[in-house]
Amino acid sequence: MKCRKCGGKAVINMRQHKLALCKEHFLIWLPEQTQRFIEKYHMFGYQDRILVAVSGGKDSLALWDILHHLGYQADGLYIGLGINQENGYSLKSQEFAEKFAIKNNLKLIVVDVAEIAGATIPDAAALTLRGKGKPCSICGLTKRHIMNRVAYQGQYDVLVTGHNLDDEAAALFGNTLNWAVGYLARQSPVLEEITGGLARKAKPFFRFYERETAAYALLQGIDYIYQECPHATGAKSIYYKEQLNQLEADRPGAKLSFYLSFLRAKESGLFAHQDPATQANLNSCQTCGQPTSAPEQCAFCRTWDRVRGRQTITA
Ligand code: SF4
Ligand SMILES: [Zn+2]
Ligand SMILES: [Zn+2]
Repeated sequence: MKCRKCGGKAVINMRQHKLALCKEHFLIWLPEQTQRFIEKYHMFGYQDRILVAVSGGKDSLALWDILHHLGYQADGLYIGLGINQENGYSLKSQEFAEKFAIKNNLKLIVVDVAEIAGATIPDAAALTLRGKGKPCSICGLTKRHIMNRVAYQGQYDVLVTGHNLDDEAAALFGNTLNWAVGYLARQSPVLEEITGGLARKAKPFFRFYERETAAYALLQGIDYIYQECPHATGAKSIYYKEQLNQLEADRPGAKLSFYLSFLRAKESGLFAHQDPATQANLNSCQTCGQPTSAPEQCAFCRTWDRVRGRQTITA
């Protein structure tokens, strides 16, 4: 297979674009496309302060790398979850994030969940779930809370995450199977700030396949953590990704068209009555002040109060 641009040996063939590229041209193409999507979807500009949620994995580090090289002011945020029991996942991923920041002379903010909330994610899950189920729901709500808090308090203009098309299409597939209208209304490459404390969010990689961001990280020589969080095994999102990959194998471009058709349907007014900006009837959490749809405490404060209550009982 030959590179479409120079005729050299192609290292990647993107069937959905009928485009094969060599290493050199792929490493130019991906950042150019990122810039195109940032502009097309009005994500942010050069004057904005950007906070990149960094997990130490390929997507978030590739995104930080590209934003940095494109000239954006992008700081990183790493959240230490304390998931170290089986393979030291959190410690290793933090090391990758820190090494990347040092190598590129970038600012990385590190927030340790156990330090600010009183327990690691696995300990909190053990106390609240009593051995049943995965820690993903408390983990997800804690990450969302911390990301929003750091973005808001640090006066960042936008919080960006490395979600790629495979992530977005899998989430869309799951939400569609359940007709989860509220989630469908909120699923978007850009979520505007909601007055009262919800930071603006953007996903500049949402049109790239996972294999493309992985190829970028590898070819660019970015060191990232290969292993997944041990709790990701058996997650529904992985099952949905496998189903969509089968569809994609038969119909190249199916994932992209599934997601882009959804965006077009949204633009034409589907879910308009569910628009998060107009639906947001938010109160301030009585404990932390962050916006919440709950009447008193937000889900983060309620959950972590319960965790600390159980810690006291078992102490
Ligand atoms: S898979 Fe791991 S990192 Fe992801 S939400 Fe679950 S516990 Fe958290
Ligand atoms: Zn080439
Ligand atoms: Zn709160």
